[in-house]
Amino acid sequence: MGEPEAGSECAIGAAAAGPMADTQYILPNDIGVSSLDCREAFRLLSSTERLYAHYLSRAAWYGGLAVLLQTSPEAPYIYALLSRLFRAQDPDQLRQHALAEGLTEEEYQAFLVYAAGVYSNMGNYKSFGDTKFVPNLPKEKLERVILGSEAAQQHPEEVRGLWQTCGELMFSLESRLRHLGLGKEGITTYFSGNCTMEDAKLAQDFLDSQNLSAYNTRLFKEVGQDGKPSYEVRLASVLGTEPNLDSEMTSKLKSYEFQGSHFRVTRGDYAPILQKVVEHLEKAKAYAANSHQEQMLAQYIESFTQGSIEAHKKGSRFWIQDKGPIVESYIGFIESYRDPFGSRGEFEGFVAMVNKAMSAKFEWLVASAEQLLKELPWPPAFEKDKFLTPDFTSLDVLTFAGSGIPAGINIPNYDDLRQTEGFKNVSLGNVLAVAYATQREKLTFLEEEDKDLYIRWKGPSFDVQVGLHELLGHGSGKLFVQDEKGAFNFDQETVINPETGEQIQSWYRSGETWDSKFSTIASSYEECRAESVGLYLCLHPRVLEIFGFEGADAEDVVYVNWLNMVRAGLLALEFYTPEASSWRQAHMQARFVILRVLLEAGEGLVTVTPTTGSDGRPDARVRLDRDKIRTVGKPALERFLRRLQVLKSTGDVAGGRALYEGYAAVTDAPPECFLSLRDTVLLRKEARKLIVQPNTRLEGSEVQLLEYEASAAGLIRSFSERFLEDGPELEKILTQLATADAQCWKGPQ
Ligand SMILES: [Zn+2]
Repeated sequence: MGEPEAGSECAIGAAAAGPMADTQYILPNDIGVSSLDCREAFRLLSSTERLYAHYLSRAAWYGGLAVLLQTSPEAPYIYALLSRLFRAQDPDQLRQHALAEGLTEEEYQAFLVYAAGVYSNMGNYKSFGDTKFVPNLPKEKLERVILGSEAAQQHPEEVRGLWQTCGELMFSLESRLRHLGLGKEGITTYFSGNCTMEDAKLAQDFLDSQNLSAYNTRLFKEVGQDGKPSYEVRLASVLGTEPNLDSEMTSKLKSYEFQGSHFRVTRGDYAPILQKVVEHLEKAKAYAANSHQEQMLAQYIESFTQGSIEAHKKGSRFWIQDKGPIVESYIGFIESYRDPFGSRGEFEGFVAMVNKAMSAKFEWLVASAEQLLKELPWPPAFEKDKFLTPDFTSLDVLTFAGSGIPAGINIPNYDDLRQTEGFKNVSLGNVLAVAYATQREKLTFLEEEDKDLYIRWKGPSFDVQVGLHELLGHGSGKLFVQDEKGAFNFDQETVINPETGEQIQSWYRSGETWDSKFSTIASSYEECRAESVGLYLCLHPRVLEIFGFEGADAEDVVYVNWLNMVRAGLLALEFYTPEASSWRQAHMQARFVILRVLLEAGEGLVTVTPTTGSDGRPDARVRLDRDKIRTVGKPALERFLRRLQVLKSTGDVAGGRALYEGYAAVTDAPPECFLSLRDTVLLRKEARKLIVQPNTRLEGSEVQLLEYEASAAGLIRSFSERFLEDGPELEKILTQLATADAQCWKGPQ
């Protein structure tokens, strides 16, 4: 699981947006741009560690390009077009040309921000919220810049061809194209355009029946002349159909009849990209610090070569065993947030370096974990038989390739490994530092008297929340499972459901997992459970002591942590789509649910009030009564957390859905009138910051760190220099892969 920081996903006024487009679908010109600072941690690496970090970073950056193919039909072409433009002319040179073509400074800046947004999100849909963003300037003007550019003069047919392929879609805000989704609901490239939720469910049942993981797959449906559907499940791998003798995968690559439908399992998705990933993982392996890292990389190489999630699991097992490395990394098809069905993973790869001071605090938390788990409001039988102490460190990110950078991670996501082998928790310190830099004037929806306190304590309180969320949130709770031999991992006679007072009536059968069973609500429900654990346990004096807070400071940390959650619950409305009655971001949905639970607790604990801002436009205020956190808030959260855990442990999908979807429903019911408040949230919304990442480059036998200025132009330069040698080759690969599937994306008829 990847964790975005609470609340700070919003950063800059909508008023700055021009008249061109609905402000929801553009990135504003004054969007915050920050550089990721990892200089000190990189300086402390040995030259071997730097080489290891360098080659892993290369592998991550190459693999991250697959996200373009996982996002929208046009994203690979847009990326190729932008990369060509900026390779031929850097942002300053292109600016001269753009102004000469009649663009205003604002229009050119809008183009730079758009390009930086495409690179940051690895596509033209926001990684956080899944909405499309379009360039905030007239299409005709952008066309003039592109067709008159140096790149177009060098390669006129190719540049014109790219523009013809993606220009319309780049600007289109046709309703189905406005956000990611399945079938009529939106755009996805995890499924061919003719797939529906029914197809997705059938495919999941098929995958479960064959013990195949969905993580590295996409689904393509064809309907034969007899009207019978035929599905291709395509695995990501370097190898295609060529026979390969000694792989567990080969036996699965065949045709199946399943519930009256035809299924064909194939592989070779993203093959040329994964080829580059594998080459650089091979190079990194030569500089591994220990045999865990070597074996881990060998398994990842096997996984990407063969298309085997089993090999990735084996690699993840070695990765878990590699405790507290100086250079930490993870790579693969990891997070399932952006698959509309919730089980296909988006590619990500990161490389980070240990941050010693913060890690010490987290170690204290780990040491207290067993004691703190007992404080959670469910019976011991609902807790794991043995708490597997996870590795919990604070890292500074060197490279984070994929669609976005989270503030913390808790992986692997494989349930079976999490239950038996454990997992690792990582807080990404330099990412949090970027997020903390809050300006007072950009703090929406808070009372004036709360603002200074909020700014003072947001960082420290979020450290506490992230630590608890990752370690005791995602790390807690047991799933009741019956294995393939029929044996249970709980005592059917004695374990009692505390909600019903009866014996356990439901559980997970062999092959069923949390994600496959709870599918569309699994991610958000689990984030909600982890966030709730954080709020609940931050009240514990021992926790505050570990992080070095006592007395009035400790109370302020608690207050700001709860206040931040309540505010985030309101900000979350940005990520709700009323037309589809659906949420687009798991963590934000979770925070809205928590706000609802705390509102339901009543007694004036939380109030949300519509107001009018000093600019005369609608505004709102959230208030939290700090004296009622322990007397009203805590018992409400306790009841809610117990229900969440019991329904999760028992695999009670119907009960879980009823509970979770009930709280997640957004209506105009008084007193809050959330649907109307959503308009205010959109009006006052601030754009998520863009983050500029460094490059590493091998000079002789030494690895150098190359940093870039914190601006849209700096971010674009970082990408232009990222693929100096093989940029044109990569763009060709991406457009060829996109073209090969181009006929699949037509929507439902
Ligand atoms: Zn989480």
